[in-house]
Amino acid sequence: MPRRRFLVAYTLALASTGIVKGQGLDQQTPFPLSDQSHDRPSWSTLPISNPTKSFWIDTPGSNPLAREHHGIFERSTGPLCFGDEIDVCVIGSGITGISAVYHLQRFFGAQGDGQDERKVVVLEAREFCSGATGRNGGHLTRNPFNGYATRERLYGQENARKSYLLEDYVSSSITDLIYSHGWSDTVDLVNGGHITVFLDEEEERHALVDHQDAKEGGLKLKDVRFLDKQMMQNAYGINHSGVFFPSYNLWPLKFVSNLYNLSASANPRVKVKLHTLTPVTAISSSHSSSSAPSNQDTRWIVSTPRGNLSCKTVLHATNAYSSFLLPQFSNRIIPTRGQMFVVRAKASLERLKRHSWDANQGYEYWFARPEGKDKHGKEYQPPLVLLGGGRDTAGPGLDQYTMDDSVLNERVSKTLKEFLPNLYAGTGLFEEGRDAEMEWTGIMGYTHKGAPFVGPVEGLDGQYIAAGFTGHGMPRTYAAAEAVSGMIVANLMGTEWKAPEWLPEHYLTNWRH
Ligand SMILES: Cc1cc2nc3c(=O)[nH]c(=O)nc-3n(C[C@H](O)[C@H](O)[C@H](O)COP(=O)(O)OP(=O)(O)OC[C@H]3O[C@@H](n4cnc5c(N)ncnc54)[C@H](O)[C@@H]3O)c2cc1C
Repeated sequence: MPRRRFLVAYTLALASTGIVKGQGLDQQTPFPLSDQSHDRPSWSTLPISNPTKSFWIDTPGSNPLAREHHGIFERSTGPLCFGDEIDVCVIGSGITGISAVYHLQRFFGAQGDGQDERKVVVLEAREFCSGATGRNGGHLTRNPFNGYATRERLYGQENARKSYLLEDYVSSSITDLIYSHGWSDTVDLVNGGHITVFLDEEEERHALVDHQDAKEGGLKLKDVRFLDKQMMQNAYGINHSGVFFPSYNLWPLKFVSNLYNLSASANPRVKVKLHTLTPVTAISSSHSSSSAPSNQDTRWIVSTPRGNLSCKTVLHATNAYSSFLLPQFSNRIIPTRGQMFVVRAKASLERLKRHSWDANQGYEYWFARPEGKDKHGKEYQPPLVLLGGGRDTAGPGLDQYTMDDSVLNERVSKTLKEFLPNLYAGTGLFEEGRDAEMEWTGIMGYTHKGAPFVGPVEGLDGQYIAAGFTGHGMPRTYAAAEAVSGMIVANLMGTEWKAPEWLPEHYLTNWRH
């Protein structure tokens, strides 16, 4: 499969200077900006107001929390009001922010701190869950061993091992939640496993080495099966070798909506409010100077176009957008645009299989949606396939340093359009030249070594962050949110936080990144 690659090496990508300027909400309305705005690079904006339409968000009926007044706790218009004693202001309603709300109400409940009530507010710049989580590929695919040797070298054996344990933990926690609450059908959970396709021998060789190292490092890999070319050809019509391992796919927005509804009603002592279409434009200290609060009574003033909130604690769950409010992260979390392409297959799901897939070192990833869910008329139609990737053909800059998800990259569109008919050539599963039924972009938060930042923001007492999940957030965000929520609750209650056994140290903000 010939492919023109511009800059595959990630380090080179980070050094590239291709900057696309987004048209942020901040450029449309004169809101107060952060004290540190002079440090903010020009590419760092608020989420823009007119993103491309995503299958997950824009399928009618799929986002009931989007913007309308819903229930008694959510509002997207009018002045903000929730008293002046907010315990935690969560910025961002993606899977990280909402997982944090879930864990916060659990931890507050478990601690029984004698306080009558705890208040948690979620502030979201656009519609509910309209960032990367509402625009991603839908894979809940834990990485079983990929990159093991590098992680062991960078972080030591124990941390390397924990980074895989964490993904196991998230995958089983999320699916347990889904099964125990009977959400499987609502969120279209598919337990179909995942196949990585090796497009060349070098990819396969690397995988075999990683697999061996991971085994020696103590990872349990009994469900991993390498598949040779013949097996792949017979079973799937693909003329490459591959590796199979357990994995899920789902409708991320629907999972996050269910999780929010559960969290907002689970604990009567914890009052939860969601404000959509409410961008946070600045955060300042309630002290007259701009220095950090020095004790429990001090508040952070969180400014929005609908008014200010006074918060004891602020959690930045803003992922790719983190540098807008925290410019000190502008060289640590790099906004990186990903693109999705939805195409109608030519064959049934039985022939396509229910696995999710990736190829080309993870640059392309896809799966076929459950049949029957997307047909509009009575006539049967083959499933839609959601394909993401193509970023290695995005051109100079690899679509980094941009927060603009209102546009498509034409080069990437071309790559994605050709990808499946080429890979499955001769099978009749995909029609050459078939146009996308939907195509959209979303912004990921890349970090230099792929690990997120979880924990207190240095020098800003009472502000925390969980962000920087690259293109691999579904199996990590829930745990990062759990860890940071544990820290927040311990801090508010004056107790000691104990790190969960699955948390690698290199995820923490105080690790020497
Ligand atoms: C095209 C694409 C495909 C992907 N595919 C996959 C996949 O298949 N599997 C996988 O594991 N991962 C995938 N990812 C990555 C994954 O989606 C992310 O890692 C994950 O969703 C991050 O969740 P989050 O909640 O941290 O961030 P987000 O979902 O981006 O949430 C951050 C939220 O903060 C809001 N916000 C930002 N700034 C402000 C502000 N100042 N005020 C108020 N609100 C603000 C944003 O509007 C946004 O809603 C993909 C990402 C993209 C873009």
